[in-house]
Amino acid sequence: PKQFLILGLPVHVMNDYTCWLLERLQAKIGTHVVTINAEMTMQAEEDPSLAEVIKNADLVIPDGSGVVLYLKWLLWQKVQRTPGIELAQILLQKLDKLDFNTKVFFYGGAPEVASKAAKFWQTQIPSLGKIDCYCGYHSSQEEKELQEKLIQIQPQVIFVGLGVPRQELWIAQNRHLCPEAIWMGVGGSFDIWSG
Ligand code: UDP
Repeated sequence: PKQFLILGLPVHVMNDYTCWLLERLQAKIGTHVVTINAEMTMQAEEDPSLAEVIKNADLVIPDGSGVVLYLKWLLWQKVQRTPGIELAQILLQKLDKLDFNTKVFFYGGAPEVASKAAKFWQTQIPSLGKIDCYCGYHSSQEEKELQEKLIQIQPQVIFVGLGVPRQELWIAQNRHLCPEAIWMGVGGSFDIWSG
């Protein structure tokens, strides 16, 4: 994808992020997606480990309107603002176009939130199949259980809703557990989907 720099951080601009992600999924190329807004660029200024993770992400999409405005000024062309929650939804909706049963995993949120969000999506898209979940508040012992679950299930799409920067750092540390998956930080999306 075409890459531009904002405060030293990469941002990728393309017409169809979902299409690109589905191709990566089919080719089994592990992918970390970051959705970036102005607040995050400022957090990254203060936190070099977050900046490093964003630089190493495979796809950084402009989420916030400040980032989009800057890109428009830089490029003199229309730049689509793509909120992370929308990209996540479109991706889920397009998974049934693939010729294999995609395994999805929701990690994050208060107890029951991710599983309620999963039920919501299974009702919306019956062809989606099982979505495995793990709550975002747990002990370090349970963290091991979560990691073992991921290794065993090998989901192809993993949404992590722990908030910024925790979700980005967690993905960077754990993406080797499922090297062929699409990993994406989704903030409070599970709260919204769970109603
Ligand atoms: N969260 C979590 N574990 C934590 C801290 C936060 O699962 O230790 C969840 C929280 O329940 C919420 C999400 O992370 O669902 C953060 O949502 P928020 O909208 O604050 O994220 P943002 O996109 O603003 O970073």
